[in-house]
Amino acid sequence: MVPSHIAVLGGGITGLSAAYHLARRFPSSRITLLEKERRLGGWLRSERVEVTHGADRADVLLESGPRTLRPNSKALLELIHLLGLRDSLITTPVTSPAATRRFLHIPGTKGLTALPSSPRSLFTSPLARLLIPSILREPWIKPNRPHDADDESFDAFVSRRFGNEVARVFGSALVHGIYAADSRELSVRAAFPTLWEAEERGKGSVLKGFLKRRKDVRSKEGDDYELGDVVVAMKGVSVYSFRDGIETLATRLAKALHHASNVTVRTTQQVTGLCFVHGSSDIDISLSSSQPPLRASHIVSTLPLPTLSTLLPSSHILPHLTATKPSSVVVINIIFPPTSTPIHPPGFGYLVPRPVEGYTEENEGVLGTVFDSAALDAQDVYYHSSRTGRGSQEQSGGRFTKLTMMLGGPHTHILNNTSQSTTPSRMLPLLASHLGIPLSSLPPPLHFRVTLQKDCIPAPRVGHVRRMEELKDALKRGPWNGRVEVVGAGVGGVSVGDCVRAGREAGRGW
Ligand SMILES: Cc1cc2nc3c(=O)[nH]c(=O)nc-3n(C[C@H](O)[C@H](O)[C@H](O)COP(=O)(O)OP(=O)(O)OC[C@H]3O[C@@H](n4cnc5c(N)ncnc54)[C@H](O)[C@@H]3O)c2cc1C
Repeated sequence: MVPSHIAVLGGGITGLSAAYHLARRFPSSRITLLEKERRLGGWLRSERVEVTHGADRADVLLESGPRTLRPNSKALLELIHLLGLRDSLITTPVTSPAATRRFLHIPGTKGLTALPSSPRSLFTSPLARLLIPSILREPWIKPNRPHDADDESFDAFVSRRFGNEVARVFGSALVHGIYAADSRELSVRAAFPTLWEAEERGKGSVLKGFLKRRKDVRSKEGDDYELGDVVVAMKGVSVYSFRDGIETLATRLAKALHHASNVTVRTTQQVTGLCFVHGSSDIDISLSSSQPPLRASHIVSTLPLPTLSTLLPSSHILPHLTATKPSSVVVINIIFPPTSTPIHPPGFGYLVPRPVEGYTEENEGVLGTVFDSAALDAQDVYYHSSRTGRGSQEQSGGRFTKLTMMLGGPHTHILNNTSQSTTPSRMLPLLASHLGIPLSSLPPPLHFRVTLQKDCIPAPRVGHVRRMEELKDALKRGPWNGRVEVVGAGVGGVSVGDCVRAGREAGRGW
């Protein structure tokens, strides 16, 4: 039966994608999107700041949420096609330094260590002594997945196959970069399912599994995507964004919803409760505003799971909504004026692994730094004042240096004392030491912005996949009866591509 009225709870990227695709799939259904904030987009937030230095002035684009996307998400490519965003794309080729050069800053050392970018560079890498023996040994290690294990931590998985040191240095750094979490708590099956599957395909060996042809493995995304010629534009692309930042996705989706005759978008509408209507299968949604409750036949919730748990009547609680621990991150956007020698080496940026002693109060608390101007300089618009005093616009890019430091996550002491632990006088010496340059070669920043992103990335803990299956099962039964779907970063993957796909798949069974 076609739903009469679908309510989408939450106007982040998952909710926007859900409302957009539901409106296309059910043109005769009413769709209402409810968002508690005045703006839509959730964690997608791109803002321009104006900086001047002598005769140079620039509008520099800063991101306080996601900043780059990967072309492997068909759901995202489809959205780019459907929303006509191809001309706004900014792409980084796989051959550029921003794609091939990534670094680690290993606590206790000065400067950066380049990560090998090819099998050949592995042999000349300073990390060769750690990496080569563990890679050569892995295919010969007997299958050692614990009997009947249906999940384990990412750290335990990598330690089992590649050794403890590889797990601490590489595994923890990777998890800092994506989830801002402790790899000893993160579920390998939920966060890195391809590794878990490769071990199974390789009959115990991850490397054998990757080498084995994946004939039997179908893309989980399927083939029914409307991609137009966006796939062509993505040939040879490592990462991409948009001229006006990632928030472009949210603003264009919001515009498309505004023009859809069957969709109503209601911002500043905080959902405060859900209640089953007696004698009917409808659900009443209470709102914090003085408005009467909204009655819906179907609901897609894209709210953070802990928020959803507070909205349910005590007679109808759902399992596992509070099992996932969200990470909090301090994002520091810094813009430096032009310098005669580059501030950082060409590359995407660096990650900082878990220190040997673990997450103690003595740690610097930095998770990593992204060299934004390396991949995203085309977002910045430069104006050069001529002698007549008139400004002429040119897009040159790269003359100012913008970068983003990320702190916090499992370094909780930073989060407890953000204002004192993130001052320029603390951060700039840390940055100089990580980059291996004297502090005196860092000019005073033109812009230094600190944003605390509280509970922003749901880091799935061990057992997440099973728990989410149980949650889905519970939603099929009882009064829920398959009419409520729960999706979003806390359920499936956290990447923007995962969220867009989750929104696209919502309500498929209706
Ligand atoms: C700092 C940072 C960097 C990131 N970097 C990347 C990256 O480079 N690439 C990438 O792919 N991904 C990245 N991510 C991940 C990605 O941005 C998020 O996982 C994704 O945006 C989550 O979208 P969502 O819609 O599921 O959740 P949210 O964005 O949290 O949306 C939920 C919405 O619900 C609203 N809401 C909450 N409670 C209520 C209520 N009671 N009533 C009504 N509305 C409510 C919220 O205001 C919000 O708008 C990053 C995330 C962060 C925080």
